[in-house]
Amino acid sequence: MAEEVLSWDQLTKMPPAAAEVRASQIETIAKIAHERFSNGTVGRLLQECGGLETAMPSDSFEASLVRVTRRDWERQRRVPTELAGRIAQAQAEGYAIWIEARRDSDFGKFLPALQRNIDLRMEYIDCFEPTESPYDVLIDDFEHGLTASDIKPIFDRLKPEVTRMTRIVVENASMVDDAPIRGHFPKASQEALCDTIAGALGAMPEKWRIDETAHPFQTSFGTSDIRLATRYDESFVSTSLYGTIHEFGHGLYEAQVDERLNRTPLGAGCSMTLHESQSRLWENLVGRSRAFLSFAYPTIRLAFPEALGTVTDDAFYKAVNKMKPSFIRVEADELTYGLHIILRFELELDLIEGRLKAADLPEVWNAKVKEYLGLDVPSDARGVLQDVHWSAGHFGYFPEYLLGSVLSVQIWDKVARDQPDLDEQIAAGEFAPLQNWLKEHIHRFGRTFTPKEMIERAVGGPLDPEPYLRYLTAKVNHLYGGPAA
Ligand code: ZN
Repeated sequence: MAEEVLSWDQLTKMPPAAAEVRASQIETIAKIAHERFSNGTVGRLLQECGGLETAMPSDSFEASLVRVTRRDWERQRRVPTELAGRIAQAQAEGYAIWIEARRDSDFGKFLPALQRNIDLRMEYIDCFEPTESPYDVLIDDFEHGLTASDIKPIFDRLKPEVTRMTRIVVENASMVDDAPIRGHFPKASQEALCDTIAGALGAMPEKWRIDETAHPFQTSFGTSDIRLATRYDESFVSTSLYGTIHEFGHGLYEAQVDERLNRTPLGAGCSMTLHESQSRLWENLVGRSRAFLSFAYPTIRLAFPEALGTVTDDAFYKAVNKMKPSFIRVEADELTYGLHIILRFELELDLIEGRLKAADLPEVWNAKVKEYLGLDVPSDARGVLQDVHWSAGHFGYFPEYLLGSVLSVQIWDKVARDQPDLDEQIAAGEFAPLQNWLKEHIHRFGRTFTPKEMIERAVGGPLDPEPYLRYLTAKVNHLYGGPAA
């Protein structure tokens, strides 16, 4: 937890010149934490408590605590403390280098740090039993039990369909205009609006805060300490508004974990896919819906009387739902977002399975953007350097973003069946029934279940791309009048 507080500070408040000393501080903490957790004492305690696993029901707090702690412990103790320290230091240093390289749009500047992160990941993979793909080891850190072979058929199903729908929105681009959300939106007004909207959704100021950062994120230090970080673009109101709603979804998950799980390995979201299903649900299924905007748009318009004074509800709804191929993943619309992720998944798999050299990334990246999105990447900053993940050596993290979107629609369909007046509630600004459903069926359990178990319990089946495709098809048809799929 101390390491996370240091990282939060690094990403939001710390003066840039402190990067080097912060990297050393984080390395020290990471090593101490790793050493204390992976040493024999925890192993002995696990052995002593082992009986609880069989004596208690498997979803009880006691059995779950022993099971999940053992899983974490067995994973961690395979990694030498010295390697864990080098990884943590390379992450912190890589972040500082990435910030500079992205600012200067200079991939060459970032390449040595990236190569070091890849080499460290290969060392890390070698600590584990061989898996079907070495990439599976990395995915497992974010989504226990998920493999590249689980992901491929889902992405293979999505890729041609999303590409097909992308062609429809490009051909009919003039049907939806996003000019209303482009203009001048003063930062101070955006900050106030983000506070108001997050507050309306349920972010209580005594437990939550919102700060500014280069790359939006959420972190929490317990169910009563939720930190959101967003970024502001004065020419485009969606960045901060939908960034905040997205991070709110992550924060709500952490805030609604059963507080008895605080300060235990169970006291966090189940996995990245589950987490992302929550952020995407709030961002897209709630935030971009007519129901939500009929509640929120009067407030949004009041915040920017000059830019939005004459913009109607309908024009704003269409503007925030405009679909258009673009360079930046975090600003991508719901539809083309998937192609950004599939591209990264393919590149990561090729990198980790040894078919692609890091030095060739910009070239391959740009070729794929051209192929999938029809765009010519103008600079590394708007291409291969845009995401923070590789600077921290986080490979295996991207696919869960799209799987989260897939799951968000499965969950939404389930909630809508259980609560037929969901739209009316949202239009009235009543979010408690939706929050309670999510708490009851997903949030409160924290890490008690494996991701696959949790998904099965929440939606009654495994990850399924079909509801997501139906949702996208309906939205594309509704906004762009494309032929039915
Ligand atoms: Zn997210």
